[in-house]
This record gives sequence, C-alpha cells and structure tokens, in this order.
Amino acid sequence: DHGKNRMYCFSEAILSHKERDLLLVEFLRESIEQEYKGFQLYYQPQVEAATGRVIGAEALARWECREFGSISPMEFIPLLEKSGLIIQAGKWIFKTAVEQCKRWTRRNRSFTVSINLSYLQILEPDFLDFVKTTVEEACLPATNIVVELTETLLVKENEKITRIFEKIQSMGFSVAMDDFGTGYSSLGVLKNTPVNIVKIDKTFVDGVEKNSFDATFIRFIVALCHDVGKEVCLEGVETAAEYEIVKGSGLEMIQGYYFGHPVNREEFEERYLN
Ligand code: C2E
Ligand code: CA
Ligand code: CA
Ligand code: CA
Repeated sequence: DHGKNRMYCFSEAILSHKERDLLLVEFLRESIEQEYKGFQLYYQPQVEAATGRVIGAEALARWECREFGSISPMEFIPLLEKSGLIIQAGKWIFKTAVEQCKRWTRRNRSFTVSINLSYLQILEPDFLDFVKTTVEEACLPATNIVVELTETLLVKENEKITRIFEKIQSMGFSVAMDDFGTGYSSLGVLKNTPVNIVKIDKTFVDGVEKNSFDATFIRFIVALCHDVGKEVCLEGVETAAEYEIVKGSGLEMIQGYYFGHPVNREEFEERYLN
C-alpha cells in the first residue's frame, strides 16, 4: 500500500500508547461481554489502629487480559472511564463486593467492605437506586459498606457530589475521601464535604521516619478530622517502625502492606477470618 515494493514488519514494541489503549479497551469490552471473565476483586485488610485487629477490607479490582496478561488498575480503570464501560463494570464491582461483604458479616457483624467509585458512576441518574437495591437484594445493612471517592473529584464536582453523598449517607452508607493530601484542595473540604472517613494518602507515610513534616502532617490532620467528627484511615503503612510512629496520632484505621497485601477472597478468609 505504501508503494515502491516496500515491506513493513509489525512489532508490538512499537505500538504507540494510543494503539495499546484502543486494543485494551476492546479486550475490556470482550471480558465484560463474557460475564467479566478475567475480572476479579482482591481484598486488602483494614485494621483498627490501636490493636491491629482486622475490622474490614478494601475491594480492589484486578483484570487479567487474555492478550497482555495482568494489567494494573491504574491503567485499566482510566480506560474503563474513558470508554464509558465503567458504568457496567462499576456495577459488577459494587455488587460483587456487597455480596462478599454479606458472607463475611456472618462471622463478624460489624465487618465493613470499602468500595472505590468513579465519579462517572456517581453522576449516573440511577446511581442511588442502584446502590440501594443492591444492598437490599443482598440483605446487607448499608452500614457495612463504605464508598470511596478521591479527594480531587470531590473538589471538582463539589456541589453535585455533595448532594449525592448526603443522600447516600442518609441511606446508611459511610463515605470516605480517598488519597487525602494529594489534590489541590484547601483544608476547607474537610469542613464542607459530607464524608465520614478521611483516608490519608500513602505518600505521607514514606517520610515519617526521616522527616518531621510527614509525622506532623498526620497528627495535624487526625486532630482536625476528629474536631469535625470524622474518622481517619492511614494508607501505606509498610513496616513495624512506621506503625509504631503513626499509631501515636490517635487515628482509627490503618491499611498497608505491614498488615497485609490485597489478596483474593479465599486467601483473605484463610489469613484474616479463620
Ligand atoms: P487506591 O484506592 O488508593 O487503593 C490503594 C492502592 O494502594 C492499591 O493499589 C493497594 O494495593 C496499594 N497499597 C496498599 N497498601 C500499600 C502499601 O503499604 N504500600 C504501597 N506502596 N501500596 C499500597 P491497586 O490495587 O494497584 O489500585 C490502584 C488504584 O486503582 C486504587 O488506588 C484505585 O484508585 C484504583 N482502583 C482499584 N480498584 C478499583 C475499583 O474497583 N474501582 C475504581 N473506581 N478504582 C479502583
Ligand atoms: Ca481507595
Ligand atoms: Ca488511596
Ligand atoms: Ca513506605
């Protein structure tokens, strides 16, 4: 086609990002059509800070592409969002996590599962109906579910999302602000946004042993949150030394590799519930 009798060799290595994205979206679509083949939820333990006792889990999506193998959610979630597939996939994630939570509450009635939401899902007109019906069908009290949304999105669409969050809280769900400290927001969001839990981003744990800023930041945010009636969860605690330092700040919950990596349902039960 290019003329002059030339021949070109195709190599995957020269696939541009754009082409890779297009291909991945097609594979995502195919996985979804085949009843979410290749999709799975992993669960990472969330512990009570003072005791280290497992009190809940965050559901984290995993996807095995039949062509490219395991793809990080940091790559496939944005693709689901760009293609609009997040609406369907997000429903599957929510429903799967709710049904799992129901099974785990038979052993521990107060066990919570935290579910990540994309702002696109929240802005769907049937979002509130969907979450309500899903917990009702699973016979699970909404109080066992925490929905997480990143700080940046809470700021961007603040007014609309605030109204929806007030409704979702009135149904009994808890709301968590994810990745706190990474956005451009002022501390005012802590006062104005209807969230029950603030999740401090893992980047603030990295420095707690080396510099005083991160440790002070954590103590300061915990004090501020408690003052306005919010609980705090700290992500990214990886070592015993980090745990010892941050535990003193009086925060409620911790999530991090020190207490456990995300694992599949069976492994979660074996390790943390039996
Ligand atoms: P996130 O919501 O902030 O989830 C926490 C991420 O930090 C997870 O990465 C988890 O494996 C990782 N992590 C947990 N503890 C530690 C630690 O101690 N050290 C370090 N370095 N990392 C830790 P993962 O599973 O790769 O997920 C990445 C992101 O993808 C999530 O960040 C979330 O924004 C998004 N995501 C994952 N699953 C879903 C989903 O079901 N729906 C939506 N909308 N987004 C999701
Ligand atoms: Ca999260
Ligand atoms: Ca986070
Ligand atoms: Ca670290």
